Amino acid sequence: MGKKRTLRPESLMMSYGYKPELSEGAIKSPVFLTSTFVFKNAEEGKSFFELAYGLREKNQGEELGLIYSRINNPDLEILEDRLSLWDEAEDCAVFESGMSAITTAMLEFLAPGDLLLHSAPLYGGTDHFIHHFLKKIGVHSVSFKAGQSCDEIREIVEKSGHSDRLAMVYVETPANPTNAIIDISCCRKVADYFATEEKHVHVAVDNTYMGPLWQHPLKHGADIVLYSATKYIGGHSDLIAGACCGSEEVIKRVKTLRTFLGNMASPHTGWMLLRSLETLKVRMEQQCKNAQKIAAFLHQHPKVEKVYYLGLIEPDTAEYEIYQRQYESPGAMLSFDIKGGEKEAFAFLNALRLIKLAVSLGSTESLAEHPATMTHAGVDPAHRAEFGVTEKLIRISAGVEHYEDLIWDIEQAFNATPEISASNSITEKESELLKN
Ligand SMILES: *Cc1c(COP(=O)(O)O)cnc(C)c1O
Repeated sequence: MGKKRTLRPESLMMSYGYKPELSEGAIKSPVFLTSTFVFKNAEEGKSFFELAYGLREKNQGEELGLIYSRINNPDLEILEDRLSLWDEAEDCAVFESGMSAITTAMLEFLAPGDLLLHSAPLYGGTDHFIHHFLKKIGVHSVSFKAGQSCDEIREIVEKSGHSDRLAMVYVETPANPTNAIIDISCCRKVADYFATEEKHVHVAVDNTYMGPLWQHPLKHGADIVLYSATKYIGGHSDLIAGACCGSEEVIKRVKTLRTFLGNMASPHTGWMLLRSLETLKVRMEQQCKNAQKIAAFLHQHPKVEKVYYLGLIEPDTAEYEIYQRQYESPGAMLSFDIKGGEKEAFAFLNALRLIKLAVSLGSTESLAEHPATMTHAGVDPAHRAEFGVTEKLIRISAGVEHYEDLIWDIEQAFNATPEISASNSITEKESELLKN
């Protein structure tokens, strides 16, 4: 026999972690619609519970036996094993939504009085949880944005007055909807700077926008990777789910809290995600190809002011250096400023025929939306302007359709927008904000 071959994740998505002999030889895992599992004898039940409640250490090669579907279920366990492969994580935990993965990880690693440092802008739900719920229970937070140096970020923590209690650095990169990127290794350095013998500072990355294929945060120093599995991982706009991946130690804590919050994914959702994972790579690669074609088309279009896409970052810039080090692809999410304002943006969105007008992303069908009045409507208008979320910004998630059909659709939608002169492209609201 030759050297043991390491198979790539896409080669393992159909079989890894599933034993057909345990399910009458069925090639696919059944949906284990069961709440509880029968023990062979009382001794076995006792032994399973000892492990589940951490009353004893695992024996060599021992795995937790099946007890009750809030604790474990075969569909979820197979899914967690397969998800771990993409990020080369030791383990993953799956949840009933991306928000439940994010909030459970935050609740596990933050305590009242702690400081949370986060990148801005963040996904609206996450932002709300930090600034309302976590604030209410006494967790402080400060933010930084893309483009700030490691030293500047460290200074933000120092000036917060709570630097001795920094417990988590939470990052979303690239930022939604502007694709601004953040250096994860720099966040690791900041976290380590404030860590002590007794206190590890966790770095968590919401990798929904690029994962699990195109960015691997654990390799750049993150401890925790979070996903809305509703997006690329599910990929068909037919379910809501989330995931959290990391070391065994981290995931053991996250799974324990999940057991008590009871926010695990259902067996049916787990099964749907197993099916989705088989085509994850082919879907994402096609979506990226389409996004590149769309970005190139938009880039030269006279009705477009600016395109925000990782594939269009100028070489020889600090951003480009991070892009090359941290990303394996420019991705399938892009946004652009249409010349004009809300009126032109809405005319464009209303005229689309193939691309659907909807929020969410990463699915087989292409989607378009208006961040300022939809996904980011809840964000303070001054912050929106600061991060470039203006009335002329449109976000597109590229699907798997034929790119020529997508470009045809975009072209015909531009033709339906009112003509405006280039000099008149600032809206009234924006000019008001500029004055303030
Ligand atoms: C959608 C999304 C979430 C929330 O996930 P749900 O599955 O909707 O709960 C979190 N972060 C990002 C970046 C997202 O796009």
